[in-house]
Amino acid sequence: MSQKTSQDTRLVYSTDPTLNVKCPKCKELQSECTCQPDVDPKSYKFVAVLRIEKQARGGKTVTVIDRLPKNELFLKQLTTTLKKKCGTGGTYLVDGKDGVIEIQGDKREMIRKVLAAEGIACKG
Ligand SMILES: [Zn+2]
Repeated sequence: MSQKTSQDTRLVYSTDPTLNVKCPKCKELQSECTCQPDVDPKSYKFVAVLRIEKQARGGKTVTVIDRLPKNELFLKQLTTTLKKKCGTGGTYLVDGKDGVIEIQGDKREMIRKVLAAEGIACKG
């Protein structure tokens, strides 16, 4: 790496670097992007809400974990952990400003344990 001259420095900083940053989701420039930013689950205060739902067709029972942070990576990892611990299928989706995870079967007891281990408060 060569020493920067004062002229180089002026060149480097003459353009605002944030103007060239692209959104990782829509690939638009940050200034054009209209994506909703992901929330950081670590700094986001939330209480997950557990409820049981019966699917219309076949009447299969699923445990729904609602009011989770809207953060795909977080939801994906938590869904993977829950599926493993519960030994069942599951999926996640982003519903408006909340993240939602569905785990097949009535797994509230196990889910409460997993959430507690992850430091996630829940009710229901
Ligand atoms: Zn975007």
